[in-house]
Amino acid sequence: MASEIYKIGNLPADDPAIADLKVPPDRRFRYVMDPKEQLKAFKEMRKKGTELLAIYHSHPHSPAYPSPTDVRLAFYPDVHYVIISLEKEAPAVRAFRINDQKITEEAIEVLP
Ligand SMILES: [Zn+2]
Repeated sequence: MASEIYKIGNLPADDPAIADLKVPPDRRFRYVMDPKEQLKAFKEMRKKGTELLAIYHSHPHSPAYPSPTDVRLAFYPDVHYVIISLEKEAPAVRAFRINDQKITEEAIEVLP
């Protein structure tokens, strides 16, 4: 069960820190978390004794399914990747595990 959310900003595609990731320059087709903010969140989780459960991001103009870039940059096989699609009037939310380039959809249970 999720207990906290850390909002991590995106880096611009031309940031030298992510040059080797070769992300598409168009922000609609990629996201790269700011590594400094990510490290800060990891340190805080370690301090609190919590674990990384899920990573979420939105797809403003495409379905809630991992893009080729999402799959390529999925570095955490034990984490749930939650994708929110905003392409239609009603947002769609789906969760996946991405392990060794293989996508497996997982059920989402919303607790009251
Ligand atoms: Zn994506």
